[in-house]
Amino acid sequence: MTPDVTVVIPVYNEEEGLQQLFDRLYPALDALGRSYEVLFVDDGSSDRSVAVLRGQFEKRPDVTRVVVLARNAGQHMAILAAFAQSRGRYVITLDADLQNPPEEIARIVAAMDAGADYVGTVRVSRHDVMWRKAASRLMNRVREGTTSIRITDQGCMLRGYDRSVIDAVNHCTEVSTYVPALAYTFARRPIEIEVAHADRAAGHSKYSLYRLIRLNFDLMTGFSVAPLQFFSMAGGVIALTSLLLVVYLLIRRLLLGPEVEGVFTLFAVAFFLIGVTLLGLGVVGEYVGRIYEQVRQRPRYTIAAVLEDPEAEAGIAARLASRQPAHVAGAPE
Ligand code: UDP
Ligand code: MG
Repeated sequence: MTPDVTVVIPVYNEEEGLQQLFDRLYPALDALGRSYEVLFVDDGSSDRSVAVLRGQFEKRPDVTRVVVLARNAGQHMAILAAFAQSRGRYVITLDADLQNPPEEIARIVAAMDAGADYVGTVRVSRHDVMWRKAASRLMNRVREGTTSIRITDQGCMLRGYDRSVIDAVNHCTEVSTYVPALAYTFARRPIEIEVAHADRAAGHSKYSLYRLIRLNFDLMTGFSVAPLQFFSMAGGVIALTSLLLVVYLLIRRLLLGPEVEGVFTLFAVAFFLIGVTLLGLGVVGEYVGRIYEQVRQRPRYTIAAVLEDPEAEAGIAARLASRQPAHVAGAPE
């Protein structure tokens, strides 16, 4: 018996905010009137998150599962770990910090009932610091221009995926990826809805500027070879132009003698070319690095423990059975 909905929540050092999350999440899910499971993935937290999750598992073992990763693998790898364990017909991802209101899950489920196999979301008024919003706007534009991924708000992780999309994602073994973009490539009927966004309930963001840049490199190089193509094209044009410059200087030297005044211009040009070469090398390095990681074929994460009740499946079935009369509500007694 598979549950209707799996809610996947990556957790990394969120001990302060988890109780608030439970207090809003479970009532919201109970109100759906569907069978569900909540699948927490602890992404190598070093605080008491695992203990708090264990407490919740003991309270609601019928609908709660906890996967504990051995070490921090990153939000997107943690979500992939959960996808591999998920059983629901619809899989919905959510952040643990309550920035995505759990009450919005109902609207995602409704959109999927209406036939969508990928429900993207757009945050209507985003509650994040200024520089994060500006950087997101820029990255959204760069991605639109270089990849075929059409997502309005790539950063919002409150999303819904149909089982067919999840199965396809589970077949991917690539090492670094961006879950909403990867899933999008398998979606046949993607739609987007607007959702609310809130301030972090507790704790602080787990993304430093460095981690955000890494994440966006994953997105760019994982789904597009445009940067690589840009540098080979630009490299060709620049090499040709500098060749013309060399020929011109050579002829000038033969006809007018050696030039001295122009020597700094030449330096400037040379430095410019060195800069371009280095930048180009950097981009090539991004791809080569990925190829290297891929050919190593290391596991993308390692699971240290799984907290789940073997009776839970039976429990879900029983809960569904007990709800049976609700489905014929309104029929004459
Ligand atoms: N997260 C994770 N592993 C990480 C970083 C973050 O599982 O390495 C989780 C985190 O616990 C939260 C979600 O991913 O549930 C989003 O992280 P955060 O709120 O810090 O990101 P932001 O909202 O600042 O983009
Ligand atoms: Mg957050």
